[in-house]
Amino acid sequence: MPSVKSLLAGAPAELRFDTELLIARALGWNRAKVFAFGEVEPTADVLEKLAPELARLHAGEPLAYITGSREFFGLEFTVSPDVLIPRADTELLVELAIDQCPTNARVADLGTGSGAIAVSLKHARPDLSIVAVDRSAAALTVAANNAARHGCDIECVISDWYQNLNGQFDVVISNPPYIRADDPHLPSLRFEPVEALVAGALGLDDYKKLAAGAATKLAPGGLLFVEQGADQADAVANLFTQSGLTDIVTYNDLAGHCRVTRARKNES
Ligand code: GLN
Repeated sequence: MPSVKSLLAGAPAELRFDTELLIARALGWNRAKVFAFGEVEPTADVLEKLAPELARLHAGEPLAYITGSREFFGLEFTVSPDVLIPRADTELLVELAIDQCPTNARVADLGTGSGAIAVSLKHARPDLSIVAVDRSAAALTVAANNAARHGCDIECVISDWYQNLNGQFDVVISNPPYIRADDPHLPSLRFEPVEALVAGALGLDDYKKLAAGAATKLAPGGLLFVEQGADQADAVANLFTQSGLTDIVTYNDLAGHCRVTRARKNES
C-alpha cells in the first residue's frame, strides 16, 4: 500500500494543498497530521475511496465538487455540479446587503445557485423575508437544502429572473453570470455550469434583464445590488442609468477590484 507521503509526492505542486486536504479528510485527520504521519499506509478501504478522489482532483475538478462542500461567509454550503462554487469575492455583496437592507425588508436573491447569498444574509439578518430564485430546479434543490441545513426560513421559487415573482421587493440582490463568451479563463471553469458563468459576448446580458425588471419589481426607493466583473462597473452603471435607476455606487472587494454595483429606484 502507498504511504501518505508517496500519495502526496504524486501531486502537482499547485494541487499540493488540496491533495493534503483530501488525504486528511479520507483518514479523518487534520492537515498537520498528514505531515507528522507521512509513513502511515492508508488501509485498502480508505484507499479505495481516496484514489478516485485524487484522480478527479488531479484531472482539474475543483475540490468543492469532490467534497461536495464549500465554506462561504463562515457557513458550510453543500455544492453540486449544478451550482457555481461560492467565491470569497461574493462575500462583499452579502456584507453590503447586511448593512443596507432596511429592517423587515422583502429581498429577492436572483440566480441563487447554492443559496450562499440568500442563506448567509438570512443567517445574519433573520428579520428579512428572503426569496431565493433560480430557473434551474436542480440548483434550487441545493439552495433549499442549504437553507434547511442552516435553519433559515427562505422561500425558494423557480423563475427565470423576475418572471414568476409576485409583488415588489425592497431589495434585489444577484451574482449573475457575467463572463464574456470568449473569455480565455473559461476552460479553467469547465466543471462549473456554463449558464451560471457566461452572459453573452460582453458578459452583460443578464444585467440588462436585472435592470429592466427592476422598473416594476423593485418597490419605490428599493435597492438593487449586483456583483460584476472588475472591468464592467461603467457598463453596468450605464445600463442601470438607462433603466431609470439612480444613486449608483460601486464597491471594491478585498483584492481592490471593483466588485459590486448598487442602484436605487426613485421614491415615486
Ligand atoms: N467571479 C466568478 C469567476 O470569475 C464568476 C462568477 C459569475 O459569473 N457570477 O470565476
